[in-house]
Amino acid sequence: MDGKEVFVIGAGVIGLVAATEIAKRGIKVTVYDSKKSIEEGADKASGVLSKRGLDSTGLPYKGSELNVLKGAWLYAGREMLKIKSEEEMAYVIDRKKLAKLCYEEAKKAGAKVLLGRRIEKERLKELAESGNIIVGADGAVSNVASAFGFPKIKEYVLTYKAEYSNAEVKDKEMVSLVFSEGARRFFGWSVPYSKSTIEVGIGISNRAKRSSMQAFKELLEEKPIKEEIENAKEEAGHASIIPLSTREKTAKGNVLLVGDAAGQVKATTGGGIIFGSLCAKEAAAAIEKNIKEGKSLEIYERAWRAKYGNELRLHKIAHEYYSSLSAKSFERLFRMARIFGMDDFLSAYGDMDSPSKIVKRFFLRGLAK
Ligand SMILES: Cc1cc2nc3c(=O)[nH]c(=O)nc-3n(C[C@H](O)[C@H](O)[C@H](O)COP(=O)(O)OP(=O)(O)OC[C@H]3O[C@@H](n4cnc5c(N)ncnc54)[C@H](O)[C@@H]3O)c2cc1C
Repeated sequence: MDGKEVFVIGAGVIGLVAATEIAKRGIKVTVYDSKKSIEEGADKASGVLSKRGLDSTGLPYKGSELNVLKGAWLYAGREMLKIKSEEEMAYVIDRKKLAKLCYEEAKKAGAKVLLGRRIEKERLKELAESGNIIVGADGAVSNVASAFGFPKIKEYVLTYKAEYSNAEVKDKEMVSLVFSEGARRFFGWSVPYSKSTIEVGIGISNRAKRSSMQAFKELLEEKPIKEEIENAKEEAGHASIIPLSTREKTAKGNVLLVGDAAGQVKATTGGGIIFGSLCAKEAAAAIEKNIKEGKSLEIYERAWRAKYGNELRLHKIAHEYYSSLSAKSFERLFRMARIFGMDDFLSAYGDMDSPSKIVKRFFLRGLAK
């Protein structure tokens, strides 16, 4: 090894996964984050994660499960599609606990994690010019990406979410997704944590040029949401942002981007933990090959795109399709989907992470008939 050091900017889940994997390979790695505690800001995001996806990442999530989910109600106007599996499909994860578990794992692996340390562009350039490797895991509005001139993310979702206690949760195994004019190019949601605690949130595209808070207030008046929280108490609310497209480049010289900084997010749902974690592992493998075998760090770009690029592209295509529909067209689509038994098909074969599995099943079932 030639004494190169790795600096990960951002101790969110993805930065911590990257640091853990790098440290496990015997490489010196330091993580910097501006936040003062590891849990700070973690609850700005939700934590709906498929069981299969979680297990594929190897994330240390045990103990952070708040609730188990089997399906979803999809609402548009007066129509509703119910997709419910016999099996437990996903967990609602306590994001603060997950952050803590990932932090402990990174430290156990030997990574140094320094909090309360915001890294500005000048410092980033100094670190890179000294021959170190920089991993930008600094979230959707990445300082690393702008410092090193990476291509921009083309679309974001602006979010607002709040928790409610004393709620009338209809079915604690089901989330609700609401497609309405108010949620432009995204949707509103409710996610039960327990029989009486629920999270309600909404995302709208930055292209809509309106406030997520205004859209959130409108969502609270939508019937399926209103019924659950009419007599509930709002506990805490947070605004945040989700990238909706991957950057066209995520490796440049000795700088890599991972997670939200790279836009490794499912455009359909805004979920970034599963693919971000898997890509962080690819980053660690590329860094090891760079340090030990002199391979170019560009292998990271090729590796993650080869493994996960198509899946993320399918999410993007599905997102573009549903974003093109008006609320009325959504209503008609759900009616037709119900008539043709699409709800049963998705209940049996739905997969939150891999749309390709649903597409394959669809054609296989068609051919088998
Ligand atoms: C409302 C909402 C709901 C979501 N729901 C889900 C879900 O159900 N399932 C799912 O899989 N995903 C979900 N996501 C997405 C998921 O939260 C993100 O994909 C994931 O947290 C990204 O992790 P990250 O480590 O890449 O970035 P972040 O978690 O954003 O971490 C970036 C870190 O970098 C630090 N930082 C930034 N700039 C600097 C700097 N200059 N110097 C030092 N530190 C810096 C920040 O303090 C922060 O800690 C949701 C997101 C939102 C907003």
